[in-house]
Amino acid sequence: TRGITKIYGGRGTAEVRALDGVDLDLPEGELVVLLGPSGSGKSTLLNIIGGLDHATSGEAWFRDQELTSMSDRQLTRYRRDNVGFVFQFYNLVASLTARENVALVTDVAPDPMRPEEALALVGLQERQDHFPAQMSGGEQQRVAIARAIAKRPGVLLCDEPTGALDSKTGTAVLAALEDVNTRFGTTTLVITHNAGIRKMAHRVIRFQDGRVVEIEENKTRIRAHEVTW
Ligand code: ATP
Ligand code: MG
Repeated sequence: TRGITKIYGGRGTAEVRALDGVDLDLPEGELVVLLGPSGSGKSTLLNIIGGLDHATSGEAWFRDQELTSMSDRQLTRYRRDNVGFVFQFYNLVASLTARENVALVTDVAPDPMRPEEALALVGLQERQDHFPAQMSGGEQQRVAIARAIAKRPGVLLCDEPTGALDSKTGTAVLAALEDVNTRFGTTTLVITHNAGIRKMAHRVIRFQDGRVVEIEENKTRIRAHEVTW
């Protein structure tokens, strides 16, 4: 992103400057963590990068596509073709099994994984025929991750994926994200308060008052495409 600014409100209500000229790069293949206090603009930025919301000004690029100039229809197509989302609440369909939940996505994507393959990647090969109510919170969130990665998204965006989980379960969910990133080089942005992510990330970006205040690179984390077997 270049100079992304987002102002909410106006016309009678007080304006909130949620993002104030954000320049942020998500290098291909990296797992990047976004930290910062409540209200600092993390979700707003993730929603703009994911094509869920419009910036007030600035540019947001995904490869050669510029999002802020797109119509809603173009943004919808961009999301469908390129973005995987994982949110705090798993949003699984209660009446469908784990496999069927993932198949909702793989049935419409151009080059999907098989649902079984995506579920195996997050360690759920034994849970394919379980319904959400028969799974723990951590398992349900791993189904949501399988659903998000099954279309092989260009970028995976996770907004507090461990927010509803205890810290041990949360760390296991983050480890599943790390594993997917290592194996496939899926470019991943994670907003989380879980400290376990620090050693899994290639870089940690600290956010405050709608601005990037610190970028910390983790030199010990090897990038997927640098690994030779
Ligand atoms: P949290 O850690 O609590 O999730 P956050 O860093 O994700 O916080 P945002 O949700 O991006 O923060 O919010 C940034 C600012 O924008 C806050 O001041 C918030 O109140 C405001 N804001 C967010 N969404 C809206 C909206 N739809 N309308 C008006 N103001 C909003
Ligand atoms: Mg948020």
